[in-house]
Amino acid sequence: MDKLTKIVVIVGGGNAGWLTAGRLAAKHNSNSEQGLKVILVESANVPAIGVGEGTWPTMRSTLKALNISETDFIRECDASFKQGAKFAKWHDGSEDDYYYHPLVLPQGFGKTDLAGHWLAQQALAKNQSSEQSPLPANSQAHSHSFSNQVCFQEAICEQGLAPKTIRHAEFADVANYAYHLDSAKFTRFLQKHCQENLGVTHIIDDVIGVNSIGDTNSEGARAGDIASVTTKAHGDITGDLFVDCTGFSSLLLGEHYQVPFKKCDDVLFIDTALAVQVPYENDDDAIASHTISTGQKAGWIWDIGLQSRRGVGYVYSSKHSTEAEAKQILAEYVGVKNGAQLDSLKVRKIPINSGYRETAWQNNCVAIGLSAGFLEPLEASALVMIELGAQMISEQLPQSRAVMDIVAKRFNETALYRWQKIVDFLKLHYILSEREEPFWADNRDPSSIPESLQELMTLWQYRAPADYDFTSNNEVFPAASYQYVLYGMGFNSDYSHNPFALDDTDMASSQFEQNKKLTAKALSLLPSNRELLSKIKEFGLSRI
Ligand SMILES: Cc1cc2nc3c(=O)[nH]c(=O)nc-3n(C[C@H](O)[C@H](O)[C@H](O)COP(=O)(O)OP(=O)(O)OC[C@H]3O[C@@H](n4cnc5c(N)ncnc54)[C@H](O)[C@@H]3O)c2cc1C
Repeated sequence: MDKLTKIVVIVGGGNAGWLTAGRLAAKHNSNSEQGLKVILVESANVPAIGVGEGTWPTMRSTLKALNISETDFIRECDASFKQGAKFAKWHDGSEDDYYYHPLVLPQGFGKTDLAGHWLAQQALAKNQSSEQSPLPANSQAHSHSFSNQVCFQEAICEQGLAPKTIRHAEFADVANYAYHLDSAKFTRFLQKHCQENLGVTHIIDDVIGVNSIGDTNSEGARAGDIASVTTKAHGDITGDLFVDCTGFSSLLLGEHYQVPFKKCDDVLFIDTALAVQVPYENDDDAIASHTISTGQKAGWIWDIGLQSRRGVGYVYSSKHSTEAEAKQILAEYVGVKNGAQLDSLKVRKIPINSGYRETAWQNNCVAIGLSAGFLEPLEASALVMIELGAQMISEQLPQSRAVMDIVAKRFNETALYRWQKIVDFLKLHYILSEREEPFWADNRDPSSIPESLQELMTLWQYRAPADYDFTSNNEVFPAASYQYVLYGMGFNSDYSHNPFALDDTDMASSQFEQNKKLTAKALSLLPSNRELLSKIKEFGLSRI
């Protein structure tokens, strides 16, 4: 007889555990007798990682799928709106060196190759200016930057504005947005919601053993499947599917199944984080509506504005910096005098082992979250991987053991593809830098650049990234994201060899014009990020 999937046991109660529990319980009616039973076991002795404050716009669909009110989420998770990332000092490290990776697609994306037209304008302007008075290096005005010319969101962010107004309903927008959130508050919020509203069973206990099924048994389980996990106080907890959300310890997939870990530290060099929470000086200080990511000697600093504080952290390569040096750099950034004073902000040091498990789903066990892998916080790719993984498990939940291996195979192919693409996209941020410190120079070493990325870079010498370059329906970063990074970092795709590629100049002009109009409209309409958040706290947004 075939073994049906009736009980899912999730080990781990960080954001990966609760997001997965919520997705499964909401989709499979865990509130009802006939629904899927979702049990989440978490240790009171192993704290969740407690960092991870930047999200993707996918979080809006995740919250909706969990039937969470955006107002409640914003009120209880210290959340703010995020409209992309500002990369400062990544190109040459100078004071006015920055570019944006916004969340709105380039104007007319898919209708015309606006990137190509923008590049052609740049080339023309450069030729004209070198004939008249040569421009000094790095003098390109930000108003003519790629992201400003093709997208209205950079202007909104530079003014500290929100992506919508109080008159917009929950999850509606003027400009596409994600959130910044307090990771620990988000975990507690999800836990309460999953228990009270979605029917998830919560057990606080330590998992101390994993028990395998011996041979294929009469109920259709497979040899090597997990039968149960042993806990300290609650005995054995049996299930049909086990989800490993145990964070870096990867208790089920890594320790029990010994699934190999693919290290990525030969490509991505970040291996240490120093994280602090910084209070605002005044209660009404502006809240940046984008993540600020500032290049440093041996890595970069993230700066995330929540309602009540900022979350700031220096992620660096310990091969290129001592901890004392890193602390000094972080101290200077947050405006305290030195590393010793920084300690008053309770610095947390977190080691990062960049890489991922080669197989995410083994037998009847699938890993979601840090247990499956982590690269570095750049572009906030971890929570989105959790959301996408949890969504796929809930939508593709194998109804019986007989089909589980087929679903697992697809899940593994998708996860592997996504990891490889994320590695490429993160590496792209580093390889075009002209900074001279060894960290940045080593990042440009061709031996550290994956062949798949080198291939794309060769293609893009002659044209802008396009959807043709990303043909899977499981892409994480669209071609537009590659455009923002490439042209923000000063890359040139030379269209001069193909004069027919850009023959739709009328369409392009109208899209550039449209972007100007949208920019002006957004700037006149939108309140500041703080103002909107205060209003939401006071009045709430209307529910959809
Ligand atoms: C420096 C840094 C910055 C980051 N920034 C971002 C960001 O900006 N954006 C983003 O998307 N992501 C970011 N991340 C990643 C993000 O923090 C995580 O992906 C996310 O919090 C999910 O973590 P998790 O639930 O997988 O693991 P954890 O939070 O570590 O949770 C593990 C859980 O497993 C439980 N557990 C462990 N062992 C046992 C046991 N034996 N028995 C029972 N329970 C057990 C623990 O109690 C805990 O509940 C960042 C990560 C780091 C390190």
